[in-house]
Amino acid sequence: MAKDSIGLYIHFPFCLRKCLYCDFPSYAGKEPLMDDYLDAVKCEIDQIKNRIVGRKIETIFWGGGTPTLFHGEKLKDLLGYIKENFMFSENVEITTEANPETLNKEKLELLKEAGVNRLSIGMQAGQDCLLKRLGRVHSISDVERSVQWAKDLGFNNINVDLMFGLPGQTLDQWMETLAMAVDMGVEHISAYALIIEEGTPFYELEHQGKLNTPSEEVEREMYHKGIGYLKRKGYIQYEISNFAQPGKECLHNLIYWKNKDYIGIGCGAHSSLDGERWSNYNDILQYIKSISNKRTAVEHRQRIPVSEQRFETVMMGLRLIAGVSKLEFRKRFNNDIRHYYGKSIDKLKAQGLLGEDTNNIYLTSKGMDLQNQVLLYFMDY
Ligand code: SF4
Repeated sequence: MAKDSIGLYIHFPFCLRKCLYCDFPSYAGKEPLMDDYLDAVKCEIDQIKNRIVGRKIETIFWGGGTPTLFHGEKLKDLLGYIKENFMFSENVEITTEANPETLNKEKLELLKEAGVNRLSIGMQAGQDCLLKRLGRVHSISDVERSVQWAKDLGFNNINVDLMFGLPGQTLDQWMETLAMAVDMGVEHISAYALIIEEGTPFYELEHQGKLNTPSEEVEREMYHKGIGYLKRKGYIQYEISNFAQPGKECLHNLIYWKNKDYIGIGCGAHSSLDGERWSNYNDILQYIKSISNKRTAVEHRQRIPVSEQRFETVMMGLRLIAGVSKLEFRKRFNNDIRHYYGKSIDKLKAQGLLGEDTNNIYLTSKGMDLQNQVLLYFMDY
């Protein structure tokens, strides 16, 4: 039997400036390391390719950081290198994240020529005052221009990332942001609530009582009104925070939500393969040095017990509106989901938090708001 295809993530840890809420492994002012970094990424590809012999790459996702901070030719060259070293599935989805400030027509053209067929543009908000407050380097007109260029070049799978619950953001501003995204004609919208992460400037401001984020009530209203609006505009909510026109779901993220195997390359990248999980050094220099000394850049590595794999499959799968597929669960764990979680499923159904049909178990809309509470019922089995 052919082995399952997998996803490939490549991390680009460089940004023009650090946004005030961001705790991703991304750094500003490290441009002199960019060429060495790409060389290290190629070396890591060489190191890893023997572990996935016979498996096809179904999706590639360039994330960051800001992949599009690199010159278009360098990105094209890297994609060529990936193609030389891995087998691809037919219709492979190739996404790059893009900061509008770093895009121009020429770069988009090179990305298209190289085979990138999906763009994920960091828009975040539809008002320049909010973008400024977030510390973003781009304006809303940069976003509109980038989407238009991409469409003119024939990209027909464009996502914009949006955030709600921002400091000083009103419900009207959020609805206006969604309307702008819809009017731009993008095929996919990701809408995440702002999370205040420790170690960020926003975290400090929050603790000084100076951040002025909307109340939890208003934030929930933003979420639910947003869902209703996008539904009316023809976007199907297929995951808690993701909305797509029919057939335009993000295949790469579906790999994570279905708890399937993926390889992550680059500093701070995570991998999950054949029941083993590992993550690379976050620090760019440490990553480059380890790889160039022919050593691995892995900082942590662990085998995931099967009981944990089962829980993670439920935890991630319940993020999807369709929920966890009973058939896929049975195929993977050689037993019905009810064999492990029958009592929990029944209790949660009785509370109106979980639904079940012949094929799936899924969160109800009440369950989505109380997801963490729901997951407690699936722990310790
Ligand atoms: S552009 Fe993205 S990765 Fe870079 S600092 Fe801002 S949020 Fe973080």
